[in-house]
Parts: sequence; structure tokens; C-alpha cells
Amino acid sequence: MAASSLIIGAGPVGLALAVALSKQGQAVTVVDRAPACSSHDGRTIALAQGSCKILARLGVWDTLKGSAHPIHEILVSQEKRQGNVHYRSQDVSTDPMGHLIPMERLHEALLARAREEARITFLRPFVPTALSMNQDNVLLQAEGGQTLEADMCFGVDGRASWVRDYLGFKTRSWDYDQVGIVATLTHTRPHNGVAYEHFLASGPVAFLPLTPFSSALVWSQPPGHADYLMGLDEGAFCDLLAHVFPFLGELTLTAPRRSYPLAGHFVTAPAKGRAFLVGDAAHGIHPVAGQGFNLGLRDVAWFLDQEPRLFEGTSSAALTGAYTQRRMPDIVSMTAMTHGLVKLFSNESRTLRHLRGVGLGIVNRIPPLKKILTRHAMGLSLKG
Ligand SMILES: Cc1cc2nc3c(=O)[nH]c(=O)nc-3n(C[C@H](O)[C@H](O)[C@H](O)COP(=O)(O)OP(=O)(O)OC[C@H]3O[C@@H](n4cnc5c(N)ncnc54)[C@H](O)[C@@H]3O)c2cc1C
Repeated sequence: MAASSLIIGAGPVGLALAVALSKQGQAVTVVDRAPACSSHDGRTIALAQGSCKILARLGVWDTLKGSAHPIHEILVSQEKRQGNVHYRSQDVSTDPMGHLIPMERLHEALLARAREEARITFLRPFVPTALSMNQDNVLLQAEGGQTLEADMCFGVDGRASWVRDYLGFKTRSWDYDQVGIVATLTHTRPHNGVAYEHFLASGPVAFLPLTPFSSALVWSQPPGHADYLMGLDEGAFCDLLAHVFPFLGELTLTAPRRSYPLAGHFVTAPAKGRAFLVGDAAHGIHPVAGQGFNLGLRDVAWFLDQEPRLFEGTSSAALTGAYTQRRMPDIVSMTAMTHGLVKLFSNESRTLRHLRGVGLGIVNRIPPLKKILTRHAMGLSLKG
């Protein structure tokens, strides 16, 4: 008999997972504590090329690609113009490096796709209060006394995961002492398909290409400075931003600024018993490289790649072990890469700034190294 699964959390990763498990023939129940899907949060998501391919396998990319904006190049630079590195998709592939998509569009497309699957049931609002596992199944209780039963459960309930805390998954966490300000804006010079990652000593500022004269902004700053920036009127905010990042001309906000406190965490093993953690519940990284959702989607792809029979009967111990073994290297290396980038560039020492400039220059002058880093940013296998 086909296995059954409970997914706790109907965010973008939870919905992608629901489609993946349903494609494996499973009966899937998705619960969320929020009464309705609400993702109008100002975020624009950079999808690596590898993620677009996963979304195509899930049957979502065709409806998304009309509203996605391609990224052809990434230019990494630091203030005072000491060294930069320029990644071009054409060096490794005929595809773009990735695409940008508003979070609400991504969420809507995943929800619509999940609703097409007859094997997926939604229950919301559903506020879980207890979760237990035994040899044969998992039991999930909610406020109001409703109890659900399934073969396996998946905690996909985001950064402050209830499943993670309730089941006592061992977690490492830290604070970046930074706040990410997101917005969209227009500029008087075209971006030409280039995503800019510019490191200021106080934190990175990223411009991600949308239409030819508009971009999404992610500006990470220490909390006090972020409060100050959020308090400025729109004109003064744009003038200050154009001063620290003068390459796109005059700037005008087209959507209100929103701010996110930035912290990081990962669990030392994302599965135990009959429970799996997926997406931000298992790992939360700094948005500096725009990789958090991409990493969660690669967790989902792992389940999509398994033989359906592995989910049946008593083989879940083998499944939890294999999930941990195969996903942890990607989770740890992506967490370390983003953490290292933030720490390396958030330092005002002149010597370090000079060394960073030399480092960026070296990457630029060694094409094989640059190709490896470009493939990594595109979410592609490092071979080929
Ligand atoms: C400023 C910023 C910019 C970013 N930019 C990028 C980018 O460019 N590219 C990229 O790949 N990633 C990016 N990310 C990361 C990306 O947004 C996250 O990795 C992604 O949203 C995680 O999705 P998720 O489904 O795992 O979690 P979430 O989106 O947090 O969804 C969790 C779901 O679980 C539900 N839930 C929570 N608690 C419970 C509970 N107790 N019971 C039931 N349901 C519950 C919530 O209601 C929600 O629906 C960015 C993040 C930030 C902060």
C-alpha cells in the first residue's frame, strides 16, 4: 500500500514537497496554522538555474517562467572599488544563471499546482499541539482535539519550527546582528541582466534585475542603522542608497520597504524516527547569496529522486539515515559559504579589504575556479 505523509507548514517549500510526495503516489495532508496563504512580504526570490529545473519536474516552471526575470551575470564588488569578480552564465551554460520571481507569485503557482493533485488534502488553520511517533506511525494533535495519523511527518514550518523544537532536534543557531531591508525600485540606468552584490563594511547591498530599469533590493545593515534607514522618507532613503551604490543612476522606490532580522541556524541531523525537517525548519541562512529557498528545494528534490517503495512499510529508518547523509554536506557547505561571505566582508580592517580585493582579482583571473563558483551559484552539479 502507498505510504501517507503529514506536512506541517504550507510555505513554498512545504507545497513543493507536497507535490513531490504526491507524484511518488503518497496520500499527503498539508496543515498550516495560518488560516490562508499570505506571502505578500516584499521578497523577490532569486531562483538558481538548478531550482528552475526542479520546479519544471514538479510541473510548476511553465506557469512561472512568464513572470520570471533572467539573471545573466553576477558582479561582486566591494566599496572603495578594490577588486571585483564577474560571473557570466555564458562561461558554463547556454541557460541564464537563474531567474527572479516575486515570492507571492512563486507561492501562488505552487499552491495552484498542489491543488491539482487529488492525493493532497489541506487543513488550515491547524495549530499543532502534540506530535508522537511509534514503530508504525505518527500522530499529530491540534488545538480543538483533532488528531491526524500517517506513516511519516515533515516539519516544513519555517525558521521558528515548532516540529524542530517539539521533537528536540539538536540545532546550532546564531545572530548576524543585521537586518535585511527589501524593496523594489526603478533606476535611470539599465542593469543589462546583471545582479549586483556590493559589499559595504556595514553589510552587503544587492540589486537583483527585474525589468530593464527596475531591480529588487536586499540591503543588510546593523539593526541601529537599519532603523535609521527605515525611518527616512523615500526620497532621502533613495539618495543615500544611490550614494553608496552609484552604478544604476537615480533610484525611486516602487514598493514599500520591509525589514527582516537576520539570523542563521541548522540542525545537526534533519531526520529521526519517522520525522523529517525540510526547508528553513532544517536550515536558515543569510540572504546574501539568495540561496535559502534554493537549498530547501534541493531537500525536496532528494525526496523526488527516491524510489516510491522506500517510503513504504518499515524502511523509514533507512530513509532518515540516507536523507541525513545526502543532504547534510550541501546544507553545511551552503551555510558555511554564506556565513563566511558575510563575516569576511563585514570587517573594516584596511588590510582585510586589500586581501579581499586581491582574492576577488585572483578568482577573476583563474577561469576554471570561476567556472566552479559560477556553477555553484547556478545550483548546478560541479561536474560538466
Ligand atoms: C530578506 C530575504 C531575502 C531572501 N531572498 C532569497 C532569495 O533570493 N533566494 C532564495 O532562495 N531564498 C531567499 N530567501 C530565503 C527564503 O525566503 C526562505 O528560505 C523560504 O521562504 C523558506 O521557505 P519555507 O517554506 O521553508 O518556510 P516559510 O516560508 O517560513 O513557511 C513556513 C510555513 O509554515 C507555517 N507554520 C509556521 N509555524 C507553524 C506551526 N507551528 N504549525 C503549522 N504551520 C506553521 C507558516 O504559516 C508558513 O506557511 C530570503 C529570505 C529573506 C529573509
